[in-house]
Amino acid sequence: MTLEEGTNYCGKCNREFKDAKAYKYHIKRSLKHNPIARLRCPLSMECSKIFGSPSALVMHLESGACKSGMDREKLNVLTKELDNSRMITAGEAIDTEQGMANCVP
Ligand SMILES: [Zn+2]
Ligand SMILES: [Zn+2]
Repeated sequence: MTLEEGTNYCGKCNREFKDAKAYKYHIKRSLKHNPIARLRCPLSMECSKIFGSPSALVMHLESGACKSGMDREKLNVLTKELDNSRMITAGEAIDTEQGMANCVP
């Protein structure tokens, strides 16, 4: 099976997209295509927790349970920086055109 030029169908998700842009956006943003299998707590060597998703990691940090001393306030700053690379807030829910619209302030 080959992907033809002009075909904006994702066989993996069983979804069709109206144009190449939407399709590429989907591939780029969908966690299905960018699985984060093992996300370790990046802040502390002592913290050996493993997370299945970025949001689980965020929850861990927000809760103040992290050994690095991270809390919600520090996290807010950090999240903004990380969000530039679309690590945390993107991916899970944002997978549709509606999601794209939500991205626009
Ligand atoms: Zn897909
Ligand atoms: Zn931690």
